[in-house]
Amino acid sequence: MRLAKFPRVALGHLPTPLEPMDRLSEKLGGPRLWVKRDDCTGLSSGGNKTRKLEFLMADARQQGADTIITQGATQSNHARQTAAAAAKLGMACHILLEDRTGSNDENYVLNGNVLLDRLHGATVSKRGGGTDMNAEMANLAETLHQQGKRPYIIPGGGSNPIGALGYVNCARELSEQADAMGLKIDAFVHATGSSGTQAGLVAGLAAIQSDVHLLGIGVRAPQDKQESMVHDLAQRTADHLGLPGSIDRSAVRANCDYVGAGYGLPTDGMIAALKLLAQTEGLLFDPVYSGKGLDGLIDLIQKGYFDGMQNVVFLHTGGSAALFGYPETFGLPGYTS
Ligand SMILES: *Cc1c(COP(=O)(O)O)cnc(C)c1O
Repeated sequence: MRLAKFPRVALGHLPTPLEPMDRLSEKLGGPRLWVKRDDCTGLSSGGNKTRKLEFLMADARQQGADTIITQGATQSNHARQTAAAAAKLGMACHILLEDRTGSNDENYVLNGNVLLDRLHGATVSKRGGGTDMNAEMANLAETLHQQGKRPYIIPGGGSNPIGALGYVNCARELSEQADAMGLKIDAFVHATGSSGTQAGLVAGLAAIQSDVHLLGIGVRAPQDKQESMVHDLAQRTADHLGLPGSIDRSAVRANCDYVGAGYGLPTDGMIAALKLLAQTEGLLFDPVYSGKGLDGLIDLIQKGYFDGMQNVVFLHTGGSAALFGYPETFGLPGYTS
């Protein structure tokens, strides 16, 4: 692995724990289920973006940046972790939030991650759904530049070949952790959105020649689009790493059957999965990503997708701060929108 040559700042509590989910495994009656706790990366209530930010923020620093610009959906976990990382490194942070759901619910637009973005001191501004967010970030960078600032743009989700190095690192970490425990992991499942997590894992697993069956559960795009996004970024990440050869297209698998009506819109399966994990394992997942990922995991176990496999690991990508933006979603008495 050639990771050591890339600049990196320590932001996360790594390695994150790998824990069995025995009550859930027993309940579902399939393979033994484990959880890789990337919700415990430590920065501002944790999540998967912290691993990416270790490489992205180091690059920003190396380029002499004093201001970070990024974008995401209203309840973006990426925006929240970026705001925290910028605060920790003494940089200013500008966040552009795209209204992808059309919700005017007060909790959705002000609570959860939005509250935390502001507590970390980020400048938050909102844009309508369907806005060209990359163009908006470029415009803002130009304005800040004219004011004498040195802006650095981090793409949505931190998903580029630099950010994806964080998940190349996670692939290595998980494999070493499993070896040390004498555990053979058959499959690794997680929610996939802007694709950097899966692309980094695909490149990282290729780098260590692992044959773990990696499966992303989509939360936004249809399967073809999601898989080509992941494959394209995995290839660019492998090139950035200096890995020889090309990324096998068949190593990229996304199941996009659990998106429901759209990005950030709750589904019954997500609600049931999220409650099941909260009540069997004491774990909190999020309504936008990891809850839909779990819905996919549980449904695919029941459909026999993992038959013949012994150990399946779910990557907990974090996001529980977003729960407070969706309090009325879970049908609990007293919470109405
Ligand atoms: C961003 C995010 C994901 C998806 O990761 P990508 O790298 O964008 O595909 C999954 N879960 C949570 C909680 C996230 O915030």
